[in-house]
Amino acid sequence: MNRTITVGVVAVQGAFAEHCRTLGKLGASAKEIRSVSDLSPTPDGLIFPGGESTAQGKLLRESGLFDMILPLIKGGLPVYGTCAGMVLLAGRIENDDRKHFAAMDITVRRNAYGRQLGSFMTTGDFAGIGDVPMYFIRAPYISSAGKDVNVLSRWDGKITAAREANMLVTSFHPEVTEDPTVHSYFLSMISQGH
Ligand code: GLN
Repeated sequence: MNRTITVGVVAVQGAFAEHCRTLGKLGASAKEIRSVSDLSPTPDGLIFPGGESTAQGKLLRESGLFDMILPLIKGGLPVYGTCAGMVLLAGRIENDDRKHFAAMDITVRRNAYGRQLGSFMTTGDFAGIGDVPMYFIRAPYISSAGKDVNVLSRWDGKITAAREANMLVTSFHPEVTEDPTVHSYFLSMISQGH
C-alpha cells in the first residue's frame, strides 16, 4: 500500500489554506508550517503559497524558517512556489533588489502584468498535459530561465510555469480553482523522488 504523502504548506502569510484544501482533495496530507518545530519530521515536500513575497521573506527570516528551509531545498526536497512563492525561489528579481532563497536559475519580474491586468483568468497548456485554468493575481512572470530549467507553460509569450530539478513554480494560482492538475504534477514529483 502506498503511504500518504505529507506536504508542508508554508503558512506565515498568504493563500496557504487553499493549497491545503487542494492537497486534501488528492488524498495527500497537508501540514501548515509556521515555526521551526513544524519541520520535524521533515515533510515530503513544501509549498510556498501566493501572497506578498517581501512580507513572507521577512517573516520566514524572523521565524528561523528561512535558515532551516534553504538547506532542504538545496538538498533536493521537492518544493512548489506559486506567485509570491515563485519570487521567493527565483535566483534573480528583475525589479527588486531583494533576494530570498535564490535557488532556481530564473529571473522573475514582480507584478509584471501592470495595473489593468492585475488579476485575470485564462486557460493554457501545462507541461504538455492539457489545458488548465490559470488564475493570475498581481502575478510575476519569468523573464529568463537557465538551460537546466524546463518551461511548463507560457501565456502571452511569457513563461508562467517552470521546473528545475526538485523545484516547481507557477505565476498563477491553481489552488483557487477546482482543477488539481498542477498539484497532482507536484505530488508525482514527490513520489518519483522528484
Ligand atoms: N506580486 C506579489 C509579490 O511579488 C505576488 C502576488 C501573489 O502572490 N498573488 O509578492
